[in-house]
Formats: sequence, structure tokens, C-alpha cells
Amino acid sequence: MLFKNATLITMNPQRHIITHAALLTNGNRIADIGKTDEMTTRYPDEPVIDCNGNILMPGLIDTHVHTAQAMIRGCADDLSLIDWLFKRVWVMQGNYSTDDGRASAALCALEMIKSGTTGFIECMLAERYGFDGVAQIVEQSGLRAAIGKIVMDKPAYAQSELTMYPGMVESDGQACIENTLKMYDRWNGAAEGRIQVWFGARTPGGVTPSLFDEMAQLAKERNMGMTVHNSEVKQDLEYARSVGCRSALDFLLRHNYLGPRTVLAHCVWTDEEDWRVMQQTGTHVSHNPASNSKTAAGIAPIQGMLDAGVNVAMGCDGGPSNNTYDMIRDMRMVSYLASLKQNDPTVLPAETVLEMATLNGAKAMGIDHLCGSLEIGKRADFILINMDAPHLTPVWDPVSAIAYSAHGSDVDTVVIDGKIVMRNRKVLTLDEGAILEEARIRYRQVAARAGLEIKPRWPVL
Ligand SMILES: [Zn+2]
Repeated sequence: MLFKNATLITMNPQRHIITHAALLTNGNRIADIGKTDEMTTRYPDEPVIDCNGNILMPGLIDTHVHTAQAMIRGCADDLSLIDWLFKRVWVMQGNYSTDDGRASAALCALEMIKSGTTGFIECMLAERYGFDGVAQIVEQSGLRAAIGKIVMDKPAYAQSELTMYPGMVESDGQACIENTLKMYDRWNGAAEGRIQVWFGARTPGGVTPSLFDEMAQLAKERNMGMTVHNSEVKQDLEYARSVGCRSALDFLLRHNYLGPRTVLAHCVWTDEEDWRVMQQTGTHVSHNPASNSKTAAGIAPIQGMLDAGVNVAMGCDGGPSNNTYDMIRDMRMVSYLASLKQNDPTVLPAETVLEMATLNGAKAMGIDHLCGSLEIGKRADFILINMDAPHLTPVWDPVSAIAYSAHGSDVDTVVIDGKIVMRNRKVLTLDEGAILEEARIRYRQVAARAGLEIKPRWPVL
């Protein structure tokens, strides 16, 4: 298939932007890239998609996603973090069935595709959400995913004395590990290699420290990825200090949980010494600007991490903490928060934001040899963004137009592994109407089982 007449943001090593560009796919790969007039002469018989008025760029990679939270979007707005977590989010999630887990993952996948995400890391899939159902949704949707299966054994959060909602507790750490390995054997490399199975440990405090060592050893033997929330809130740092560590990162270092196959979400409460360790171990960071802002966790010092040579990618987090899985909507926040933190609007330009949302995400997932940039031989994972809109007119620089002006809903077409997953905003792999309908029924049932009634604050007539 020849995609012609696009403005191509390649993200190749030279960061070429090609106007009047064409991209040829062959099976799941990019077979050629060039100017449209040359390419149409070279491939006269190739079926064509005219991309006039569109930017064609690598698909976005969301490195921190809770698929189960899509269906409880907005259930805990404007609450303190403790109320948010203990009174709403965990209570809702702790009443999920496997059908709810599957329905929420489908809703999440639909939203991600419709806003240009082509790959993601699920950070913490609980047993009760049903791994198989979620993996089947990933397979059907066409997305790429690293699915982190939860490992935990204590009903605690950092040093909090409030215990976790019973429905969220998995108290047998060994069963968590065994089930992860079972899912690894069943799903890792499935869906033409689009699915990876990772360890998704709960935050230190909810996991006996020796379990981190065990996961690290098992992951190393299999070259598995690992992910965990790190230093999201100050309590994470306090917990680490209470067990004799310099920082939350130091805790993970001591338990061998760092390395080039590890992605740490948030990393708000980190310092220079932490960034040095991240760089030396090749550990990746998922920056979650909207979530950190909404929960008032703090502004992650990502400029320091980037300067230290750490690979920093982006993530949307979850439905109650963001409240969307729209990477384009969150892109501007990456730059804005860095500017605010340092009182300097030059510190984190649009180009860095786009790198974080594409290439750096691919690195974090361990697939940058396949995805993250548009180069001949790489996988055909890309999106078309329709620039024919008032908020995208005029365009001085396509990179800053995407990073600062675009919306997720400007994404017109999504191609993953050479397959057209969305065309003219219609998702071709999932039944959008059925997924929305099911989510609208199930979220009420979950709330009813949880005994929660969530109403607008203003009187409803
Ligand atoms: Zn999270």
C-alpha cells in the first residue's frame, strides 16, 4: 500500500521531516520512503491512500496504562489521594469480574487507537481482571502491548496503616509469580509478536522485598520486562527510608529490579543520585504529567533525568487519575510542567516531547529496533493526523503543531504492523458501539456491587 502526499515526521536518526512524502508498506514492514512523485513513478501498480492534508508520523506509545481503570473514568474526581484510592478506585476495582476487566480493556483499547496510540504497557493487571480476556482484546484490537501481571502479597500501601480494599488483595506472592509465568508461556510473543508478558509488581510496601529479587531473577532468565510505580508520592520515599534505603529507587536497586528491561512509572520524588543510577542501569522512566498533576503528586524532574542520559517516555496512567488515555492531549503538559518547574520555557521543546511519545516509548518497551520511527525495514506502525482544522491552522512547524495544538481526535488513520486498524476515524478491529454500550451497563453494576453512589455535586433536576 502506498500512502502518498503526506507530511512525514520520520523520527529517523537525522529527524528528517519530508513534505509531499510517500511511504510504501509491504506486509508488516515499511518497504520504501520518498517524495510522492518519485514513489508513484517507482510503484505505479501499488494501491494508494491519498494522505493530502495529513501528517504521517510514528504511532504513539503509552508506557503506563491501567486498562481496568477506563471503565471507572471520573469516579474519583477532586478528591484527596487517600480518598481517591481507598474510598473509590480500589473499591470499584475490587468489585470487578473478569468480564468487567475485559470490557474495560476493550474501552481502553478503543480510546487508545482513536487517539493514535499503537503500543502500550499495562502496568498492573490483577488476577481478578482476567489476563486471558485482556490479552484477547489486545490481539483482536491490533495493538502492541506489554502486559504487566501483578505481583504482591501484602494489603498495604507504603507505610499506610489503612489496609487495602479486600477485593484488591492478592496475598499469595508465589501464586502471583506462578500465574505470571503461566501467562508468559501462553501469551508472550503471541499475536504475531505484538504481545509481551511482564512482571507488574505492586509498589514497595505491598510486596515482601524478597519477591522483588525473585521477580528480577526470573525476568533475567527470560529477558522479560518489569514495571512498577516508583516514587509517585512522598510516602513512597518515606517507606524506602523506613526500611533503610536512601530512596525508593535505591530500594529497587538493592532488590535487582532495575535494568534495561525495567520501566519505572512516575519517579516524582527522585534526585540527582537516583538519575545517575537510572542512567547507569539503563532503567527507563514513564513520565505521567496529567496524572501527577491531577493527584497533586508533584512535578517529576524529568529535565534532570534527560540531562543525565535517562530514557524518559510518556504515559497517561488511568481513567480516574487523568481522565483519558489520549497521549496527544497530554503531550503539551510534558513541556508546560517542565517550563513551570524551572521557570524557563526553553527547557523541554516540542521535539523532545515527540521523542518521548514515540521513540523513547519504543525503547522502554524494548521494541525500538521495530517501532518508534519511520525507516525502511521497520514495522509499519504509524498514524495519520488530519491537519484540516481551525486549531491546526496555520502550521509553521509540524512538530510543535502536534505537540501543542493537536487533539487525539485529530487522528484519522492508524496502521499497526502493516494492518489498517482505523481508517477515517472508524476502528476496523473492534465494535465501537458494542464496547461503549457494554461499558455503560457494566460501570453501574460495578458501582452497585461496590455500594458506591457517585453523583454530580450540583443539584440534578
Ligand atoms: Zn499508575
